[in-house]
Amino acid sequence: MKITVVGTGYVGLVTGTCLAETGNEVICVDNNAEKVQQMKDGVVPIYEPHLDVLFERNIEAKRLSFTTDLKAGLDHGEVIFLALPTPEDEDGSADLSYVLGVAKEIGDYITDYKVIVDKSTVPVGTAEKVTATIAKTAKAEFDVVSNPEFLREGFAVDDFLKPERIVIGTESKKAAEIMQRLYKPYVRSGNPILVMDEKSAELTKYAANSFLATKITFMNEIANYCELVGADVDHVRIGMGTDSRIGKRFLFPGIGYGGSCFPKDVKALHKSGKDADFSFKILEAVVDINEQQKTKLFPKMEGYFKGDLKGKTIAVWGLAFKPETDDIREAPALYMIDLLLEAGAKVKAFDPEAMENVERKYGDKVTFCNSMYEASEAADALLICTEWSIFRTPDFNKLKSQLSEPVIFDGRNLYTTEELKDFGFHYLSIGRKSI
Ligand code: NAD
Repeated sequence: MKITVVGTGYVGLVTGTCLAETGNEVICVDNNAEKVQQMKDGVVPIYEPHLDVLFERNIEAKRLSFTTDLKAGLDHGEVIFLALPTPEDEDGSADLSYVLGVAKEIGDYITDYKVIVDKSTVPVGTAEKVTATIAKTAKAEFDVVSNPEFLREGFAVDDFLKPERIVIGTESKKAAEIMQRLYKPYVRSGNPILVMDEKSAELTKYAANSFLATKITFMNEIANYCELVGADVDHVRIGMGTDSRIGKRFLFPGIGYGGSCFPKDVKALHKSGKDADFSFKILEAVVDINEQQKTKLFPKMEGYFKGDLKGKTIAVWGLAFKPETDDIREAPALYMIDLLLEAGAKVKAFDPEAMENVERKYGDKVTFCNSMYEASEAADALLICTEWSIFRTPDFNKLKSQLSEPVIFDGRNLYTTEELKDFGFHYLSIGRKSI
């Protein structure tokens, strides 16, 4: 099939590349000329495991190309994916200006039947708005489909190629058939393609993300309570998670969720509810708790250094909002760094993939290091903000000899208290006894 993907971020580029992988001819359109040039030069502009191999293979096979020219893109595709940003607006709602802006141009340019697929995360009712916007000027027939994306950054290629489910929201039989044909190669193992109305599809995405954010937040609350009463959240987590109704996944407490999706999606669903005179009280609590959780370790650091962090050097391991990505949007590490800098501490940071993005934000206010041990060398304390695998089994003897104070503040509970006690560390984590 001939496919066009508008927007080549984490979702759009993965979508375009993975659709090319099954033989489709894909043109990706982006209005960021620098990014498009980079991709034309064969450079993947984001870090996403395994994407580079597929990217190169499909460019070479001439199934994947890039342009800034939206009209040329629209002429090419029979199916047009919109993978555009829907950032948080000032009032918490999803900013639809990117989606509706492109929808207007689609109306101006299309000359034959198109399926317009909204892959961006958008509030209930957006398909109607997109339809109305295109219809204002369109001289050809079209259908609008809501097809929310469930991929996880860090596993995006795998998630796209082997999705647990595909949601297609449309009442057009023709569009549903085209979408089912396009996605058939990805569900050969029997995972479902769920066809439903547009509104239900739009809400499915928000409901899923808000539920996951709530699950994390619930565990963070339990962890905070554990600290007060002397329980160990690891025992509680395993004790709970072995109940199959609860499940083992997504129960790890930490310094809050971040990223480009959960924070804005929870707020957007809350705002959509408000607009319909419906109060999502649970989401209000989730937002509040997560806000506090991101900096949960800061008072512990202040306490350890008796309120005086001025002049202390803090090594920070992990900057991305989660491992296996270079995405730093709403990353808890940045909230911690802001507080540390405000308190007069010096920050030496290391992240396997996200340092360039953080450097763009902080410049020389933070010292960026080439390795985890370069960051901890001569630091007064270590703070862990992201659970990258390489941080899981460090050389504790080396680390202890490097740090002027043998203290680790662990926002991701990577180690057991027992092992760090044996090595002679002070260890402060989330929901467990501090030593
Ligand atoms: P992103 O910011 O990484 O990428 C968006 C891209 O769109 C950028 O390359 C930008 O240059 C381009 N763009 C902006 N305006 C444009 C225009 N007028 N014409 C052409 N290109 C334009 O965003 P993302 O993370 O890929 O997210 C896109 C959507 O998918 C959002 O709604 C997001 O909520 C949703 N989503 C994201 C994820 C994720 O893990 N990142 C997962 C599922 C859903």
